Amino acid sequence: MYSDIYKLITEYDKIVLARHVGVDPDAMASVMALKDSILLTFPHKKVYAIGSGSNRFTYFGKLDKIENTKDSLLIVLDTPDIRRIDGVNLLDYSKIVKIDHHPFVEKFADVEHIDDSASSASELVLELINETPLLMDKNIAAKIYLGIVSDTNRFMFSKNGRTFHAVAKMIDEYELEIDKLYEPLYLRPLNEVKLEGYIGLNLKVTENGVAYIKLTKEILDEYKVDAASPGNMINNFNYINDVLIWVFFTEDVKNGNVRVSARSRGPVINMALAKYNGGGHKYASGARIKLMETSEDVIKDLDELCKNYKKESDSGENY
Ligand code: AMP
Repeated sequence: MYSDIYKLITEYDKIVLARHVGVDPDAMASVMALKDSILLTFPHKKVYAIGSGSNRFTYFGKLDKIENTKDSLLIVLDTPDIRRIDGVNLLDYSKIVKIDHHPFVEKFADVEHIDDSASSASELVLELINETPLLMDKNIAAKIYLGIVSDTNRFMFSKNGRTFHAVAKMIDEYELEIDKLYEPLYLRPLNEVKLEGYIGLNLKVTENGVAYIKLTKEILDEYKVDAASPGNMINNFNYINDVLIWVFFTEDVKNGNVRVSARSRGPVINMALAKYNGGGHKYASGARIKLMETSEDVIKDLDELCKNYKKESDSGENY
C-alpha cells in the first residue's frame, strides 16, 4: 500500500494535503511532516497544506491557499469521512489518497490506507517515509514526534510496543532532543488552567458513571477562553473513580451549535455519538448538537452504555 502511495506522489507535480475540520496536533503534524518530506525528496514539486488554521499550531508551519487544483493529487490525512474533510471538494482532484487511523466510515479515495491500530496519523506518515524512498530530517521527525505524543496522550493509549519501537528508532536516528520539543505543544494560558479547575469543581456524575459538564458561552466568557479550549483538557480527566465515560458540552456561538467531546476508559462510545452527527475513535469521540438541551439525551445514551458495560464486565466492580 505504501508503495502505491509513493508511486502516486512521484507521478504528480502538484500535491494537496488536507485533514479534518477542528484541527488538532496530529492532523496538523501529519500533514506538515508529509509536506516537508515530499518537498525534501522532490524539491521541484508544488505541495500545499490546506484547511483552516489555528493560532495554536503555527509552530508546525504555515498553511497554504490553492486556487487551481487541476491535475493534482489530493492526500487526505486523519479523516475517515467526506463531511469532516476541511476545505476540499473531492471533484476538483485527479486522484485521491486517504491515510487514516480512524475506524472505517466510508470510501472516498482511489487508494485508501486505513490502520485503526496505529496510534496516530503521524505514525502512519512515519511508516510511509520509512518504507519508501521519501526523505526525512530532524525537523520532520520533530513534527511526527509531537503528532504521536499528542494523539497518544504521551504514549498512554499505546497498547503494545509498536509505537515505542518506531519512535525510539526515530529519536536516535535524528538525535531529537525531545525534552525541548514539548513547550509549544503543552504551554497554555493560565485562564485554561482556571477553567480546568472550574470543570473539576462542577463535574456531575450519573448513576452509572458518566461525568459531564455543560459549558455555556457565559462560562467561557468568564474564563476568557474560546469554544476549542475545553477539548484540549479532556484527557486530563481520565482515571477518576466511578467515572467510565466523561463528556464536555461546549456552546460554540461562532458555529451556532454545541461541541461534544467524549472519552471513555471502558465502553465503546463512537457509535453512540454517530447518532448525534458525530463519531471518532472507540474511546475518544466527538459530535456536534444543535441545542444544549440535547445533551440530556446524549448523557442518557452514554449512561446506558456504562450500565451495560458494567453488567457485561466479568469482575463487576473491577473497572
Ligand atoms: P475531540 O473530542 O474533538 O478531540 O475528538 C475526538 C475524536 O472524535 C477525534 O478522532 C475526532 O476526529 C472525532 N470527532 C470529533 N468531533 C466529531 C464529529 N462532529 N463527527 C465525527 N467525529 C468527530
